Amino acid sequence: MKEDVVKMDSQQGTRKRYQTGIEVQEQELGQITAQRMYRMRCECGRPWFELELKRLVECPACHRLNLVSL
Ligand SMILES: [Zn+2]
Repeated sequence: MKEDVVKMDSQQGTRKRYQTGIEVQEQELGQITAQRMYRMRCECGRPWFELELKRLVECPACHRLNLVSL
């Protein structure tokens, strides 16, 4: 049986501890930045990503101004 324990103040890094037959693994808590992206697709067939959802977006391929619909 394995159990993950999150250790907040980790000076020693990852180490293992054994108690009564249960293997406990301590892990450092990392940080992940989540980013939401919108996948655009123009009528010309060019797909690309935008970080914000706008009403009007210019296609990087054909440079046409497009109305964005979800
Ligand atoms: Zn286009």
